[in-house]
Amino acid sequence: MEYRILGKTGLRVSVLGFGASPLGNEFRITDPQEGVRAVHRAIDLGINYFDVAPYYGRSLAEERLGLALQGKRHQVILATKCGRYDVRQFDFSADRVRRSCEESLRRLRTDYIDVFQAHDIEFGDRQQIIEETIPAMRKLQEEGKVRFVGITGLPLKLLRDVAERAGVDTVLSYCRYNLMITDMDDILTPFCREREIGLINASPLHMGILTEQGPPAWHPAPEAVKEAGRRVAELCRQRGVRVADVALRFCVQHPYVATTLVGMSRPDHVESNVRALEGQTPEDLLEEIRAIIAPVFNTTWPSGRPENQDYEELRQQLLRQADAC
Ligand code: NAD
Repeated sequence: MEYRILGKTGLRVSVLGFGASPLGNEFRITDPQEGVRAVHRAIDLGINYFDVAPYYGRSLAEERLGLALQGKRHQVILATKCGRYDVRQFDFSADRVRRSCEESLRRLRTDYIDVFQAHDIEFGDRQQIIEETIPAMRKLQEEGKVRFVGITGLPLKLLRDVAERAGVDTVLSYCRYNLMITDMDDILTPFCREREIGLINASPLHMGILTEQGPPAWHPAPEAVKEAGRRVAELCRQRGVRVADVALRFCVQHPYVATTLVGMSRPDHVESNVRALEGQTPEDLLEEIRAIIAPVFNTTWPSGRPENQDYEELRQQLLRQADAC
């Protein structure tokens, strides 16, 4: 396993990180024992970065990860989040941040969190995140309950703006840098690099689109993106290559991202994802994949409040939806 330094935090993180949302049954019902084995296998294979949130499985993922990490806490870097608690339940107030931290510590069976992140900040009020949420998280840092403070979300311009104005140690971006889309590099990466902010890239499989089994029903991408994913998976199958391997390798080769988070709950996925890092994707296959994706390349979708969108058309889309309700 290769390790990289996560910005100015100095944390030495594995290039492949363990995304624990599947432990909360976010993609499908998973077997708890298998989940524990997946976590242990990941540690054995050198994965040291684990990302979870109270939102995943409405606390189930934290419970399961905490149980799996008993006796192994010192071997890993543990990241969790605050502010998002259900599909439409958000609270970025200072009080809730503090309570959330205590709850996560209890569920994760630890007395410190390495990276504490405000979760999906596009659903919050920008000023509140800057003036109340991040300062409350910094207070927890002063008290030694968390080591570093970060933000996560989908809209890149918002992440950049909040990182600049509030000052954060890490930024987690998802579904904005993988085979289907790379606009993270246009909007966020240069800023993070210049400020030495730790950059975490999540969802290298585009939340299941770049897998054999395909995405879950709730996946927000437009149908044309899902269809392109099916065609890429089919092409890889014909070539005797696993689509997830190709997608992961593409992300891990990023020059600045410290860790790429892939969602896992099965030991066989952990093993094949770690093995994928060793292989190489033939250039002609990549060319064919790029051709399939070209018509939908860089397609994203709205998330959060209208004023927090990256692109005017996404803001308009949300305003039209609100009018229709
Ligand atoms: P992903 O792109 O990593 O896809 C996960 C899906 O792919 C799951 O269904 C998983 O079972 C499957 N999978 C994994 N390895 C596979 C393999 N080798 N073969 C076939 N299928 C495989 O999407 P994700 O889980 O959403 O993202 C990774 C992690 O990043 C999350 O678990 C979470 O920890 C983090 N994340 C955070 C945010 C945020 O903070 N806002 C958003 C998205 C993701």
